[in-house]
Amino acid sequence: MKDTQMTKVVVVNALRPRKEVIDEVADVLRSGGLCAFPTETVYGLGADGFNQEAVLKIFRIKGRPPDNPLIMHVDSKEMLNELVVDVPEIAYRFMEFAWPGPLTLVLKKSTKVPKEVTAGLPTVAVRCPGHPIALALITALGKPIAAPSANLSGRPSPTNAKHVIDDLMGSVDVIVDGGETFFGVESTIIDVTSEPPKLLRPGPIAVEDLIKVLGREIEVPPFARGLAESETPLSPGTKYRHYSPNTSLLLVELSDYSDLNFLVTAVLSHANELMRKGLKVGIIASSETSNHYRVRGFEVLTLGSRSNLFEVAHNLFDVLRLSDTLGVDAVIVEGFNEVGLGLAIMNRLRKAARYRFSYSS
Ligand code: AMP
Ligand code: MG
Repeated sequence: MKDTQMTKVVVVNALRPRKEVIDEVADVLRSGGLCAFPTETVYGLGADGFNQEAVLKIFRIKGRPPDNPLIMHVDSKEMLNELVVDVPEIAYRFMEFAWPGPLTLVLKKSTKVPKEVTAGLPTVAVRCPGHPIALALITALGKPIAAPSANLSGRPSPTNAKHVIDDLMGSVDVIVDGGETFFGVESTIIDVTSEPPKLLRPGPIAVEDLIKVLGREIEVPPFARGLAESETPLSPGTKYRHYSPNTSLLLVELSDYSDLNFLVTAVLSHANELMRKGLKVGIIASSETSNHYRVRGFEVLTLGSRSNLFEVAHNLFDVLRLSDTLGVDAVIVEGFNEVGLGLAIMNRLRKAARYRFSYSS
């Protein structure tokens, strides 16, 4: 069931959000409404984190499975302290390193956190976003904002207001248009209740940097690389298909990407095979390789340069959404090196892909 209603779209300056507008949106949240807003990662779909009814509406509107918990967004350590108990010392070191910013910590929850937010888990995911609009909204509400990404469940996360409008127009109260998001992939999630701490989702804060802060290893389970499904409900979101365009996506991975000619050959052989079956094929490539496909007449979308994974991550979800507009039957996407942001990029691509082919070069 979908709630149909009037959705107000408000354009807000991302650097200097006007207080009157933020207060108005905070009032909508305070009265149990839902609002989509930009963060530095992707757009979030927010509700008053202490209002169970409003939180349940998020699940209903997104079509989100009820066992996939939300992230509580706070504006300070004081607000965090209401939500959690038994915070290990390392959690404060991670906060010092990355807050406000794209790092979510999974901690033991306090009794104040509604079970709807955590899907009944004994832990809660918390982050302090670094985006001026997100921060101002939380402060104006004076309470944590519970939010997942502002897309329909299974779709690529939204990185601009148009993506949100495409998915949620007519089902939320307000969409705050603050322009394009900075990173374009969701926050890094780390579980600090386990020993060693466990990476649940790679994101803009690289696991290599977290290891430096911690001074020892962090567990990176296969599902954090998008490779296998989680058996336990530790990070429930990992067991669902994600980020998928409607067009069938085929991912071509290499064990190492130093020989791009090998990559182009592998992609072209898959493209030719699909064409022999009568399918129209599009290709998502890096700027280093895109011309090889374009000169052969393929529709090509370019993610950015392999030497600038920030650019690739920034464009990723927009390009996945755009692949539905190419008018093709299947899209082949090139893989990337799993270093730094590359871990987050490959996690999203593996979850989005319907088919995956790996080659050792
Ligand atoms: P989204 O930002 O839309 O990806 O949704 C929030 C993500 O946080 C999902 O992948 C959830 O599985 C994850 N998450 C939220 N709470 C917890 C928790 N208590 N333990 C582990 N993962 C969590
Ligand atoms: Mg999401």
